[in-house]
Amino acid sequence: MMDNLPSWSSIVGHREKVHRLRQMVEAGRVPHGLLFYGPRGIGKRLTANVLAASLLCERFDLADGKENIPCGVCAACREMREQTHPDFQVVVPEGEKLKTIKIEMVREVIGQAQKVPVLSRRRVIIIDGADSMNEAAANSLLKTLEEPVSETVFILVAERQASILPTILSRVTPIAFSPLSDDELLTILMRSPGKYPSPQLLTLIADGSAGRAQELAENGGLERRAEALNILKELRGCCGKKPDMPEIFARGEKMGKLSRSELSDYYHYFRRIVEDIRRMEAGMVPRYRDLQADLQQLSAAYTAEQLMKTADILSEAYRRLTTSNMTARLSVEALMIELRDVA
Ligand SMILES: [Zn+2]
Repeated sequence: MMDNLPSWSSIVGHREKVHRLRQMVEAGRVPHGLLFYGPRGIGKRLTANVLAASLLCERFDLADGKENIPCGVCAACREMREQTHPDFQVVVPEGEKLKTIKIEMVREVIGQAQKVPVLSRRRVIIIDGADSMNEAAANSLLKTLEEPVSETVFILVAERQASILPTILSRVTPIAFSPLSDDELLTILMRSPGKYPSPQLLTLIADGSAGRAQELAENGGLERRAEALNILKELRGCCGKKPDMPEIFARGEKMGKLSRSELSDYYHYFRRIVEDIRRMEAGMVPRYRDLQADLQQLSAAYTAEQLMKTADILSEAYRRLTTSNMTARLSVEALMIELRDVA
C-alpha cells in the first residue's frame, strides 16, 4: 500500500515530459497507447503510475479543474492509493532466469480491457518491461492496439525503443526519458535518509539511475569500483612489478566465480576509469572526482595511444562477456593479459 498517492510533483526531473503529459491530461486528450522508454531506474514507471491515477481520477471527466489531478480524495484515487482500483492493471515480466511477458499474461489483461470499466470511466493497463514481451504476446497486444477498445489506455514501459516491434511502435505515442542529472539523483537519494551511506559518491557512479544507485548500495558497488581501480593499477605495475601468469590465473579463478552481472560491473568500472583518465588528459574534470589522485597516478602508466588501445580492449571484452558463451574465468584471464600487456 502506498502511504500517499504519487502525484506529478513527486516525479524528480523529466520536467518537459511531465509538462507534456499534464497538458494532455488537462486537455482531456490522452492517446490510447503510450510508450515510455529510457534507462531503468529513472522514474518511467512512477510517471506511468501518476498518469494512470490522473486518468482514473473522477476529476478527469469534469470539464475543468483537471490541473489538480490526481485529486487524492475521490473514490478512484482512494482505490489507487490502496492499490485496489478494479480498472487498473499492471503486467510485469515473470520467470526464473529469463523474465518474459507471455501471451497468456497479455491475453488476460486484454480480456479485462474488453469489459466495461467498474469504477472509473476507463481502464488503464501498464505493461512494464514491454521489451520482454515475446513475439506471440506482442502480436496479441498489437491486435488490441489496432482496434482500440475506446475506454482503455495502454502505457508501455521499456528500456529500449529499438526492442519494441515496429508494428507496435507505429501505434503508440513514444516518450523518451533520459538519465537523471547528478542533482536530481541526489535529491532522490536524500529522500530516504540513512538508506544510502554515501549518497554523493553513489551519485557519481550510478549513471543517473536511482535504480542503479540502490542496487550499488545494496551489493557493494563502491567497494567493487575501488577494487577495479586496484586491479588496473596492479596490471600496469603502479604498485611494484606487473603480475605474472600464476597471479593472473589466481585472479581469474577468483573473479570467475562471480555472476555475469557482477562481473559486468567490474568491466563497467574499468571502462569508466579509463574514460576518466582520457577526460583528465583532455583537460576535463573526471566523472569520478573523488578518485582524482589515483587516476593521476594511473595515467602515468599509459601513453595516449596505449589508453586508446585499452579503451578498445575494454569495449571488446564487454561485448564478449555479454554476448558470447566464453566462461567468466576465461574472459577475465584473457582481459587481464591484454590489459597488462598493452604497449
Ligand atoms: Zn481523484
